[in-house]
Amino acid sequence: MSETIHYSHNNSGGRDWLTADDWAALAARGWVLDTYEGRTYGADRTGLSLDEAIREWEVATGQPSTAEGCPCCGPPHYFYRNDRAEMGLAAAEVESH
Ligand SMILES: [Zn+2]
Repeated sequence: MSETIHYSHNNSGGRDWLTADDWAALAARGWVLDTYEGRTYGADRTGLSLDEAIREWEVATGQPSTAEGCPCCGPPHYFYRNDRAEMGLAAAEVESH
């Protein structure tokens, strides 16, 4: 069974943590971008484990996946698997300040 890993971006601290180039680098590696009305909120990667997907994301973006972000907004980068989403533990709301 091929698993899909979901990445969700939270604009922690009121800024976008990924640039257009970062999103393009992910897309070039097979990530399917989740774009709505001109903004990209996340991406899905099928065919890798969660750990593999996170490593690939770090190579593509050149950023640490574990950035803490703003204390009130929480981490900017969130990765989860299908089964967690199906259990209702979906990504945090995208919030702006
Ligand atoms: Zn904040």
